[in-house]
Amino acid sequence: MRWEPFSNDREFHLSITDAERQGLARIAQRRRWVWYVFIAFVPVVALAALVGGPDALNTVGFAVLALWAVIVALSGFARCPRCANIFSMGNGIANPWRRTCGNCGLALE
Ligand SMILES: [Zn+2]
Repeated sequence: MRWEPFSNDREFHLSITDAERQGLARIAQRRRWVWYVFIAFVPVVALAALVGGPDALNTVGFAVLALWAVIVALSGFARCPRCANIFSMGNGIANPWRRTCGNCGLALE
């Protein structure tokens, strides 16, 4: 299979290997976890405050934010399974919600 960035060859973009499919699933999973932790932040911290008071609020709030920062970094710096470049980067511009690889155009779905 030839490799040509930003090719308009539809067949090239539609044909992906199992390894590429697994890599794309991993990227999609990391993006889902960004949202899971983001949405869980307020209820988790509120529960910690109710149960443990202000000290627990601070500790749990910082821990959840630190966890979220790690997940955001793992998601944002995920490598493309086809070209091995950072999936969300393209032409020097980072877009963490990009649906296609910014380097080779491999689509998430
Ligand atoms: Zn790529």
